[in-house]
Amino acid sequence: MSTPSVSLSVTALLVASVSLGLTSAKAVGAQATSSVPNAASPVPILLVPDRVFDGTAQREGVVVLVDSGRVTAIGPRASVTVPGNTRVVALPGTTLMPGLIDLHSHVLLHPYNEVAWDDQVLREAWGERVARATVHLSRTLDAGFTTLRDLGTEGAGSGDVGLRSALEKGVIRGPRLIVAEQAIVMRGSYAPRGFAPEVRVPVAAEEAGNTSELVAAVRGQIARGADVIKVYADYRWGPNGSAAPAFTIEELQAAVAITNSSGRPVIAHASTAEGMRRATLAGVQTIEHGDGGTAEVFALMKERGVVLVPTVAAGHAIAQYGGWQPGVTAEPARVRAKRASLRAALDAGVTIANGSDVGVFAHGDNARELEILVEYGMTPLQALTAATSIAARVLGLERTIGTVTPGAAADLVLVQGNPSTDISAIRNVQLVLQRGAVVYTAPR
Ligand SMILES: [Zn+2]
Repeated sequence: MSTPSVSLSVTALLVASVSLGLTSAKAVGAQATSSVPNAASPVPILLVPDRVFDGTAQREGVVVLVDSGRVTAIGPRASVTVPGNTRVVALPGTTLMPGLIDLHSHVLLHPYNEVAWDDQVLREAWGERVARATVHLSRTLDAGFTTLRDLGTEGAGSGDVGLRSALEKGVIRGPRLIVAEQAIVMRGSYAPRGFAPEVRVPVAAEEAGNTSELVAAVRGQIARGADVIKVYADYRWGPNGSAAPAFTIEELQAAVAITNSSGRPVIAHASTAEGMRRATLAGVQTIEHGDGGTAEVFALMKERGVVLVPTVAAGHAIAQYGGWQPGVTAEPARVRAKRASLRAALDAGVTIANGSDVGVFAHGDNARELEILVEYGMTPLQALTAATSIAARVLGLERTIGTVTPGAAADLVLVQGNPSTDISAIRNVQLVLQRGAVVYTAPR
């Protein structure tokens, strides 16, 4: 399939789904949108929703004052002193929340059912990939996700570092970006693979073959601008392409020691119980995926305070690319196993933070992860907390984002409906504020 026609049809689909998704909210929001100030408005804004989810709990009958890029007050209307020039934005039927956080994105990838991962890595120029990423970032912001932790450029070098700079300088629009630069993988374990042994194929990550290479990779990535270091504790290099542990505990410990001494955390991709165990014992901050987690390894994670980022949406999407029709055809074994492993993590009391692996599926559709987390047994409030205060704590930004409290950055989203009873309400985005400026309003 040719890439240009695919991208056009995807654009058309997204535009269609955005207008469809907003139809129900239109009538309710219409009267208030006229009072919504534009992005450049320097005036304070008083937001009057029906309710506020503040990052940990739901509060009724409160208003939120935003001034100079920050939340300056939250409380009952009568208790909030409002400056004379304040614009009042009353949106009946809405819930105000902190801007949502997705801790596992790949803005330099797009859905694998459009273009296979191998072809994105081998056939799309970096220029195209970065151009696509700017569109992805914009769609993400419009979906109410104001912070992404992007975990690996997958063959696009330091592209994420440049995107982060462009966002910080206001050259492009999009969420705050915390970047990992390239993932670090054990030499010979990663992809693209399956070519003749004589053919040299570039690997879509940074390879390390021993401890000194691993340490050098960490130091090099930090020098180039990585905010976090991502290592693959396991990958599909086992018999018949099965996942198997890659680095040893000692190697992982060396990576963690160097990374932590710089004040940064190590993030581990791990889907086998042994890979998860090694990563946990080595002192990583979060484990991504965790599909093969057992009660024992989840208990260990709980004991060591390692956070799970389950990425349930990724496997769900890949199973559908393979022909699965949820609700129509039988749930594939891998999807059933993932549901069970999330249950085991919840039962063990592991802290779960929101991260979807978006890029496997469409950017701007990040809500999918939260919907599936709820389908798999979390309450809507647990899922919302995982995407706000818990995710912010993982990033060390809990005073700035993921919370609606005085002093926090005014990265906020208003959605139609009540996501604490229907998580899919987070799709009905009415208004997005970033550092106090309105950056998205639902089309009328
Ligand atoms: Zn990923």
